[in-house]
Amino acid sequence: MSNYKLGREFAEQLDHNDELSTYRSQFHIPKDAEGNELIYMTGNSLGLQPKITKGYINQELEDWAKLGVDGHTHGKNPWLNYHEFLTKIMADIVGAKPLEVVVMNSLTANLHFMMVSFYKPTPKRYKILIEADAFPSDKYAVESQLRHHGYDDKEGLILWKARKGEELANYEDLENILKEHGDEIALVMIGGVNYYTGQFFDLKRIAKLGHSHGCVVGFDCAHGAGNVKLELHDSGADFAVWCSYKYLNSGPGSLSGAFVHERHAHNKELNRFTGWWSHNKQTRFRMRDDFDQLPGAEGWQLSNPPILSMAAIRASLDVFEKAGFDKLCEKSKQLTGYFEFLLNELNNSNIKIITPNDPDQRGCQLSIQVKNADKDLHDKLTQAGIITDWREPDVIRCAPVPLYNSFMDVYGFIERLKTVI
Ligand SMILES: *Cc1c(COP(=O)(O)O)cnc(C)c1O
Repeated sequence: MSNYKLGREFAEQLDHNDELSTYRSQFHIPKDAEGNELIYMTGNSLGLQPKITKGYINQELEDWAKLGVDGHTHGKNPWLNYHEFLTKIMADIVGAKPLEVVVMNSLTANLHFMMVSFYKPTPKRYKILIEADAFPSDKYAVESQLRHHGYDDKEGLILWKARKGEELANYEDLENILKEHGDEIALVMIGGVNYYTGQFFDLKRIAKLGHSHGCVVGFDCAHGAGNVKLELHDSGADFAVWCSYKYLNSGPGSLSGAFVHERHAHNKELNRFTGWWSHNKQTRFRMRDDFDQLPGAEGWQLSNPPILSMAAIRASLDVFEKAGFDKLCEKSKQLTGYFEFLLNELNNSNIKIITPNDPDQRGCQLSIQVKNADKDLHDKLTQAGIITDWREPDVIRCAPVPLYNSFMDVYGFIERLKTVI
């Protein structure tokens, strides 16, 4: 839909016609000191709390109080295999088979555990390719993997940079890097949706390209999971990781998801770090048996997981399942398209959208570059009751989230932006 209109009435009409509009009332929307709802545009940083989350967590607190250790087997939702409640819905959201997905640990930890298995440097082929403006944690993680294996982290890191004067990474450049250095690169590790620009990469294209040069390919999908259709299985990637506290609304620091492609599911030769939770479920509690690897992504688990955090993920995934991810993605395109339309109509040379204007190359986030890196604009927006985030050097990231943001939120954002710009 591209025939957007200006004016408040049009926003109200879009909300009126939105069959997902009732989901907003299922979330706690932060308020200002006077009790007015803020315009929350930072679901890409920390998703809002579903109202049902408390009940899901309380259930586990009650079972713990009532049953103690027996909650593992006799709780309403027995804790022993609690992660299995999450697998199917999570797999659906990232476009994977249940065998390929597990919820465990936190994000950067999972990135390391995946690299233990999938970054296998040799003196000839040891380099790691990442995008130049990768999320800092990812960059630090791959640099430390290089050092861990005895390589220089400057020499070993190849950056996929945007061209001079451009903001977005270009696939031709990636092809050229691989043509030139492909046989030196052990691992291609890209953020599925770039946190800074909001660019949603063509995962399939990158995986195919990387594989054609003999590289392993992994993605950090922290800004993609719950935001765009990742189709991880079809992408052919070897592994992927993501967090659950951004678009997946599972609470600060909540657990991470990991994907390992089916073709690695039964490969016991892959090196990995293991613990009792990667061991065969049937014999896990015999305690003395030799290690017996679980197949699939579950075989990368180490520890019995934090159930309270898992309960929050379960609550959030239940909301996603009810709303339907396809419908959410449809609304997302409409909501962000409307946002883009209104921003462009402002015709203000102090701001520029750097996110791709092709809806298939982005999720809900628009990154607004501010002329002369004027952070004041962000601060004024905050004072006006709009929560966005400022990312150095010069970008305000805004993410209207289809589950709880309305077209009126977007309209209100623009009206307030007009007064502060
Ligand atoms: C949010 C985010 C992280 C944060 O890592 P944690 O281990 O969860 O603190 C890392 N990488 C990317 C790409 C992110 O978007």
